Amino acid sequence: MKLNIVCIPGDGIGPEIVAQAKKVLDKVTAVYGHEIVFTDILMGGASIDACGEPLTQEAIDTAKAADAVLMGSIGGNTTTSPWYKLPPEKRPEAGLLKIRKELGLFANLRPAYLFPELAAACPLAKGTSDKGFDLLIMRELTGGLYFGARHTEVIDGVRTAVDTLTYNENEIRRIAVKAFEAARKRKGKVTSVDKANVLDSSRLWRAVTAEVAADYPDVTLENMLVDNCAMQLVKDPAQFDVILTENMFGDILSDEASMITGSIGMLSSASLNETRFGLYEPSHGSAPDIAGMDIANPIATILSASMMLRYSFDLNKEADSIEEAVKAVLKEGYRTGDIYTEGTVKVGCNEMGSLISDRIK
Ligand code: NAD
Repeated sequence: MKLNIVCIPGDGIGPEIVAQAKKVLDKVTAVYGHEIVFTDILMGGASIDACGEPLTQEAIDTAKAADAVLMGSIGGNTTTSPWYKLPPEKRPEAGLLKIRKELGLFANLRPAYLFPELAAACPLAKGTSDKGFDLLIMRELTGGLYFGARHTEVIDGVRTAVDTLTYNENEIRRIAVKAFEAARKRKGKVTSVDKANVLDSSRLWRAVTAEVAADYPDVTLENMLVDNCAMQLVKDPAQFDVILTENMFGDILSDEASMITGSIGMLSSASLNETRFGLYEPSHGSAPDIAGMDIANPIATILSASMMLRYSFDLNKEADSIEEAVKAVLKEGYRTGDIYTEGTVKVGCNEMGSLISDRIK
């Protein structure tokens, strides 16, 4: 297969971690007999410095012509960087919002997996972390409260603010389909999270999700109220496979899920549109405090590349080989500084990428 990948190294540690993901992808494609072509584009601060704007039309067109986009991270120190003296629409983050919109990325996937070797960093009770967990949050990204009409007015002398939460059945159906498809590739269970005891939008969410479930008899569907889900995530995260939820609930739950893994440098993410196209990036930011020091953890970006193979190319064996290589390196005791504990071997960003690449089989 020929893979046409656009890379956005971005700012801060972005170029260092993307270089490691490219190294691993080069190895995977060589071992499995695929051809891969990388094209770099600028976004964020790097694009502001070179082109005067956070994302050019040319960069968008290049991304649209690719099969998938692999991103590092964008942005700088928000207190000291001159990028943050610019108006909001000219700042680095505006590039990210623009590319998500231009590419129609409505589904955000964030896995939260507890590597047994890193269980000590998990803030949950030992009995809970000992069980481990491996879940995926499927968050709707372009609808709901964050995109509904809003206004603030004074009514009878009282300041009053209104936000609206709107979903139509098509928006719910397309994200539900993504969740059931993902569950098929995992443990076959979808937990749809809503607030159907209160919200009309949640009752529609539940009804449409049940309709979609009928097309996936091999996948189990359960419904859970969002307040209960927030509790269950810290009480018994092992019960979850795919958590399907709307935009705001997903925003909050996905941060909670990433915290219980205890290691931000390990968490990948994907944003997908209706086709197989996706944008893949680590969940963390550009870490300007450690940029250029060869100490960043590249694993979140490398695992994002693995998600890319799985979701945009259906290359499951190849994706597995990356995940197995990451597990092997951790098992052998290699750690970057952020996950280092006494008795393990500290390595830099570049070496971690090479160790993982060397273990691709
Ligand atoms: P951050 O995630 O960049 O860093 C938080 C802390 O975690 C820092 O101490 C950093 O050194 C550490 N860290 C993060 N990733 C690491 C890694 N791979 N290896 C080792 N340590 C790592 O969050 P922040 O400091 O709040 O934000 C910095 C910049 O990143 C800001 O400009 C912010 O807007 C941007 N940001 C971008 C994205 C994105 O591109 N999608 C996401 C979040 C933040």
